[in-house]
Amino acid sequence: MNSIVEATFRHAQEQPERVAIFFDQQRITYDNLASRVERFAQALRNRGLQPGERVALFLGNSPEFIIAYLGVQLAHGIIVLVNTQYRKVELSHILNDAAVRLCVTNEAGAQEIVPLQIESLRALILVEGPTSAGASEQISLSDFLANGEPTPQQTSESADALVFPEANDPAVIGYTSGTTGRSKGALLRQRNLLANAIAVTSAWHWTENDCLLLTLPLFHTHGLMVGVHGTLLTGASMVLRPKFEAADVLSKLQDNHTITMFFGVPTMYSRLLAEVERQALKPRQLRLFVSGSAPLSPQVFNAFEQTFGQRILERYGMTETIMNMTNPYDGERRAGTVGAPFPGQEARVVDVKTRRPLSATEIGEIEVRGPHVFSEYWQRPDATAEVFDADGWFKTGDLGWYSQDGYYTITGRARELIISGGYNIYPREIEDVLESHPDIAEAAVIGLPDVDMGEQVVAVIVPRTDHRPQASDIIAFCRQQLASYKKPRQIVVVDALPRNALGKVQKHVLAAQLQIP
Ligand code: ATP
Ligand code: MG
Repeated sequence: MNSIVEATFRHAQEQPERVAIFFDQQRITYDNLASRVERFAQALRNRGLQPGERVALFLGNSPEFIIAYLGVQLAHGIIVLVNTQYRKVELSHILNDAAVRLCVTNEAGAQEIVPLQIESLRALILVEGPTSAGASEQISLSDFLANGEPTPQQTSESADALVFPEANDPAVIGYTSGTTGRSKGALLRQRNLLANAIAVTSAWHWTENDCLLLTLPLFHTHGLMVGVHGTLLTGASMVLRPKFEAADVLSKLQDNHTITMFFGVPTMYSRLLAEVERQALKPRQLRLFVSGSAPLSPQVFNAFEQTFGQRILERYGMTETIMNMTNPYDGERRAGTVGAPFPGQEARVVDVKTRRPLSATEIGEIEVRGPHVFSEYWQRPDATAEVFDADGWFKTGDLGWYSQDGYYTITGRARELIISGGYNIYPREIEDVLESHPDIAEAAVIGLPDVDMGEQVVAVIVPRTDHRPQASDIIAFCRQQLASYKKPRQIVVVDALPRNALGKVQKHVLAAQLQIP
């Protein structure tokens, strides 16, 4: 078996009536899913989509997203994932960069895309809303699918019949979240997707008896390549939601006893905890709660354990590699760490300058290698060459260290390392201390230019209540727990930190805001 789409069809054959997706009132069985995917793929073929041509998805969480995603792969096209929050600037960057032929979207999406006049774009396929004439051709999904009946020549023996993709076929271009700058398109092949799904499902004991509550956006690795792929590989089920809302998640967790797993980003867990407190209820336990995409603070990890009576499993991944590391399913899940590489993968920590491998407890850049790692940035040989060394190690851009017993801790991004007075300062360490202060809800530490020190440490904080903590008290609080050179020189109080769709703090946005006089 070479692909997730092939696994889906296998389940459809073996257990046609099993439900793959619950979405509002809809129950989509594996059989139904496979036949809709097949029609979608056939319709793409009938419209003349050539192998390797790009089809973008600019669409919210829905069964149509998953059908189109698998359909494009079955037709041997390449999927381009687009964040639904993106507008003019990001959309034209991505759609032009990937020279997208077709885009599956809705009416609101079409209104964003049509004025951009993307040269390569031949048509928009609209999953809802009436078809209207525009600068690009617009077709409703139902009209599009009506064209998905096999033509008489397309019998299973004909050269035109749909065949499953091969292991090395390009499958998806995932754009990185743009946390540190402009997002890059990472090209993932079928073998990358499959190797990851196999590693994740075996490490987390995922079986067909599981049902995942999925509220993460599907345009991103976490929701799609962990949540959807894991479900479809194992023949399990998912309860798909359009988006995360704490009260909605809590009511599903309490009432729907088929749900066994929930995956979230750290901000979702903080909101879930606040909601549990607000409703003053005793939450139900699940087989597994997973956190990733951004650092889970030890405070939230511990508060969750107190409230839910179980530990979140934190893991570490990225668009270019999907999943890299995981805390153990059975062993100790350690706060502030991301565990060890998944089975079949390698990791190491190297000196940022000399690239020499470091020993346990030394901080450097994390590198990974294995079948999960992407092959290239889309049409960016320069960027690709920069991130791979001659032995195939991929430079993650993340800094970290591993303990004597093999647990990795991420200390931040190489690009966000602060060098002040010749000292290396890791923002995450200071953020953890700040977030343990009773008056601070959230903190982000950045380095701003300083004539004297090169850079100076600046802490941006969101207070827990209306009560504004004194800057001098906070600096003193840090000073008690950290070396003096790490203490913030300035405290900036804000109402909220700038975050992207995955809840990641965009430090380049913060730095730009703070430098404007
Ligand atoms: P860009 O590459 O465009 O700057 P990005 O790196 O945020 O954006 P993604 O690929 O979505 O884009 O995110 C991967 C990054 O998220 C990782 O490199 C790491 O910095 C961070 N990350 C993921 N999981 C964790 C985790 N458990 N703890 C800390 N950081 C994490
Ligand atoms: Mg990145």
